[in-house]
Amino acid sequence: MKTTHQEILNFIRQLYNQPEGFIPLHAPVFKGNEKKYLELCIESTFVSSVGQFVDDFELQVAAFTGAKKAVVCVNGTNALHLALLLSGVERETEVITQPLTFIATANAISYCGAHPVFIDVEMDTLGLSPAALRNWLETSTDQQINKSTNQLESVNKSTGRIISACVPMHTFGHPCRIDKIVEICDEYHIPVVEDAAESMGSFYKGRHTGTFGKIGVLSFNGNKIITTGGGGMLLFDDEELAVKAKHLTTQAKVPHAWEFVHDDIGYNYRMPNINAALGLAQLEQLPAFLDSKRMIAHSYNQFFKDFGGFSFENTHIDSLIRFVSEPINTKSNYWLNCILMPDRLGRDEFLLLSNGQGIRTRPVWELINYLPTYKYCETSDLLNANYIAERLINLPSSSKKSDEPK
Ligand SMILES: *Cc1c(COP(=O)(O)O)cnc(C)c1O
Repeated sequence: MKTTHQEILNFIRQLYNQPEGFIPLHAPVFKGNEKKYLELCIESTFVSSVGQFVDDFELQVAAFTGAKKAVVCVNGTNALHLALLLSGVERETEVITQPLTFIATANAISYCGAHPVFIDVEMDTLGLSPAALRNWLETSTDQQINKSTNQLESVNKSTGRIISACVPMHTFGHPCRIDKIVEICDEYHIPVVEDAAESMGSFYKGRHTGTFGKIGVLSFNGNKIITTGGGGMLLFDDEELAVKAKHLTTQAKVPHAWEFVHDDIGYNYRMPNINAALGLAQLEQLPAFLDSKRMIAHSYNQFFKDFGGFSFENTHIDSLIRFVSEPINTKSNYWLNCILMPDRLGRDEFLLLSNGQGIRTRPVWELINYLPTYKYCETSDLLNANYIAERLINLPSSSKKSDEPK
């Protein structure tokens, strides 16, 4: 059985119990201690770069994710920038990532003066494909000994540039095959920085995303599963590296009661206390948000199954609308639910109808390798990324207030 586009829209209105009016893609929910903590912030006058909420927020995020250390940043993009610098990404090196990601991933690579290489994604995870990664590394790189460090490194045979990092991304909260990716990168002496900006609360084989690579990055932008207004976080297993990160986010100032000495090129990347206060209140509600989003995803999944279902065993069947459910071995936060339409025409028809009725849906980002800034970058074949980019639609996915405990 085939459903009509209008039936899907009716279902969304029913799901959000909103017979009319605008339904956003993802709206933040503030139902906890937000006002209380913000008031405490203002009463104490510690609204800026010093304060207890910053320390508490770092400790709580580390505890939730299982990272040894967490370091806050002003946003996810500069957290990515710093993560790459701390991983040793230098000018005129190359960093592997996926073309199907938000622009910030590629821009952070550019901030370091490095060049992105775009490798294809998988159909079921929407994240970097371990098979495509291995294939590209096998055919396009050689290993050599770095003369200054005496360590092995991989070099792009055609450009002569060192591959200095790999940045897989957990797309819309669905974890990619991160253990395989780390294993391959280890073989090729490439540090992994996980762009876990969208996957706070997502687990791969029981372990939180962002804790597999050398460094993981979270975002707390207004559209993410929890928000600090704007904000980001670096996750570390290596505590020394975390200390270095903290130092760089605070202008590389050498701690002293009155002197101003800076021992490196530092950054003003530290999150203000007022944002951390909001973040702490949001983090307390994360388990409730996750439950609510799981229920919404379940409802979508059931709805799309009922009229034809989907199967990722036959990845390129072109007649059904398929709901993208969490990949095997993972627990997704279902940050943004998505479906794959049969073709680009179907996608565009649905986007027109839906947005015309005030139900916010959107296509996936334009693949980064097609943007003017990045169109000269090296890519693998991008069969899956192109397929997905033509068909994917994000559906309204806000947590429902009614699902949460009082
Ligand atoms: C949101 C996002 C970022 C950047 O986070 P900001 O906090 O908005 O700077 C980076 N990568 C991905 C994949 C994102 O979705």
